[in-house]
Amino acid sequence: MRRNPAEDEFHQAVSEVLEAIQPALRRDPGLRDAALLERLCEPERQVLFRVVWTDDEGRAHVNRGFRVGFSSALGPYKGGLRFHRSVRLGTVKFLAFEQVFKNALTGLGIGAGKGGSDFDPAGRSDAEVMRFCQAFMTELHRHIGPRTDVPAGDIGVGGREIGYLFGQYKRLTNRFDAGAITGKDPLIGGSLARPEATGYGTVYFLDAALTTRGERLDGRTAVVSGSGNVAFHAMAKLRELGATTVACSDSGGYLHDPAGLDLDVLHEVKTVQRQRLSAYLEHVPSARFFPGETPWEVPCDVAVPSATQNELDEPAAISLVKNGVLGMAEGANMPCTPAAVQVFREAGVVFAPGKAANAGGVATSALEMQQNASRERWTFEETDRRLKATMTAIHAQCLATADEHGAPGDYVTGANIAGFRTAAAAMSTLGLI
Ligand code: NDP
Repeated sequence: MRRNPAEDEFHQAVSEVLEAIQPALRRDPGLRDAALLERLCEPERQVLFRVVWTDDEGRAHVNRGFRVGFSSALGPYKGGLRFHRSVRLGTVKFLAFEQVFKNALTGLGIGAGKGGSDFDPAGRSDAEVMRFCQAFMTELHRHIGPRTDVPAGDIGVGGREIGYLFGQYKRLTNRFDAGAITGKDPLIGGSLARPEATGYGTVYFLDAALTTRGERLDGRTAVVSGSGNVAFHAMAKLRELGATTVACSDSGGYLHDPAGLDLDVLHEVKTVQRQRLSAYLEHVPSARFFPGETPWEVPCDVAVPSATQNELDEPAAISLVKNGVLGMAEGANMPCTPAAVQVFREAGVVFAPGKAANAGGVATSALEMQQNASRERWTFEETDRRLKATMTAIHAQCLATADEHGAPGDYVTGANIAGFRTAAAAMSTLGLI
């Protein structure tokens, strides 16, 4: 704590992991090696830089850029970039730390990193976003590469931003190294099914977890927070598996329609027109929008928080449990506070933590790297099949590890210990570096 002041989210993520892995530390004295845990909690490298760009009126703006390489024990640093006004070093460190365990769980040979900026793309023109991305990459390109560090998207960084970032990377390096960044448009080497992967993967995990309890998604109601990349594709997969999403949100409030949200309208409003969620009412006046509220008071069978960290607190968890929620899967990173997680675990709700449930995004990024390296292009169906197989394997690994440590069905224990054991084994194999 003293070493990393004012990094609350990072402390929270580290505490959660250290608590969850206690059964493994008790069992295996080799894992209790203090230097191992200390190294695990200290990023290998952190890059902070100034990003100067000009808006459409010619005014100069100064933002801060970050890239944290947390661990390269299993492969090149891998993890997204977040552009949001709330981004601080502690945010990026928490996200990069989570990535260590998540990426280890995929079994795909990827290390862990994360980055971003306190730049807010909301309300900026395409030209402004492009100039910002170019300025950001002008420094970042020195630190990344297909065998070193491979960024991707996160909040505020979608296909448009990735295209501008890769364009500048290509210009500066004089190389078309497609494997240097993932989440690209398929025209420039992106993988089909990458935009869908995090949301789809989260629902694949939830489906597998419910199945082990003899439950099904078919016929269930769902509440999903957020309405961005992860949220939208989670809703689409829920629909495919027979569940109806009755509420979703953005930072302005939540949208509710007991008859089910129209995903085509949602796509048009949020993705095509880049409007606020409340604009949905112009197309479907029978729905209701609740400004400034979160959607957790809406009764549902399953919930998929897919917006941001600590968006679901203890009172929200109590409300969901009281309304009979059966299953929770974290599409976002650390969206539930520790007290909320405790409520779900004590109530016996199926709870899938983000580091396992949302690993499908980074797994498919690894598949994109694989296609870039081999110059192959897989069909959507082939990539989705591999994504599903990966999520099924992660689910089985979490379940077996939880069982092995006397916590049957506890995915928090299973995910943390399984990810930790793999990351720790790789670090030990490499020696004291
Ligand atoms: P997007 O930018 O596409 O969407 C983010 C959504 O969350 C938007 O609806 C946004 O609303 C809402 N949101 C963001 N910040 C807040 C906030 N402080 N309060 C309330 N709502 C908020 O991001 P993604 O869908 O890509 O990412 C969502 C989450 O999933 C993040 O936690 C991310 O780390 C995680 N994740 C993403 C992966 C990916 O592949 N993209 C992979 C694994 C995890 P508004 O538009 O109003 O800001």
